[in-house]
Formats: sequence, C-alpha cells, structure tokens
Amino acid sequence: MKPCRDCQRQISEQALACPNCGAPFPAREPLSSPRQARFLLTVGLLFATGAGYFTHVTLEAFGEMLLAAGHLPAAATPLLRFSPLLLALGPLVVLGVWRFWPKPTDRGIAAACTGGALFFFLPNLASTIMSSLALR
Ligand SMILES: [Zn+2]
Repeated sequence: MKPCRDCQRQISEQALACPNCGAPFPAREPLSSPRQARFLLTVGLLFATGAGYFTHVTLEAFGEMLLAAGHLPAAATPLLRFSPLLLALGPLVVLGVWRFWPKPTDRGIAAACTGGALFFFLPNLASTIMSSLALR
C-alpha cells in the first residue's frame, strides 16, 4: 500500500487508477516533491513581484506624461499613486493559486506558471492601456 499521489489515500501499488480520485498510476511519484514545490512557489512569487514592479513603473511613467498632456482627468491621480500596491497584489494572486489549487502535488508548478504569466502579461496590459489613452 502507498498513498495516492493526488488524494493521499492508501491505494495498491499495482493500481492503474486511484479508486478514490481516478488519478492514473496513483503509486507513481508526484510531479514535484514538497521541496521542489516550495522552490517553484518562490519562483512564482519573484515573477509576480517583478510583474507588479514593472506594471507600477509603466503606470507611473505613462501616468505623469498623460496627466501633463491633459489626457487623463486629475481624478486619476490617486489611482496612479496606489500603483505600488501592485507589488503586493501579484504575490497575493500566486499565494491564492498555491493555497487553492485542487491538486496539492501540482500546486508548485501552478504557482510558478501563474507568476510567469503575470510577469509577461501584466506590464504589457498596462502599457497597452496607457498608450491607447495617450493616442486618444
Ligand atoms: Zn487518489
């Protein structure tokens, strides 16, 4: 008997599928060990912090320019002032994925991928929005 790599329930080592959760080859090693999972979480958190930083810098640089050019209403100023909060928001999203990912054995990979996705999309999204405002 061995714990299933997905649901941790005791299953036969010969089982082709877990009788509880249906995972294929449940006696196989999980995708990542707890140590690897924690490393992947750290990677995800670093990427998410980077995503928040670059988004904040983009918003700040464009924001000052747009305000000076009169493309943004003065009411938008407080929004720009709060953009450093993005530094905390990205890691919170990654921690949320880590905490609530349905398969505990894959949550490290999920956290790293979330951080990576934020890193690539969030700053791009911010600069796309801000440059479309600038061109208005
Ligand atoms: Zn199972």
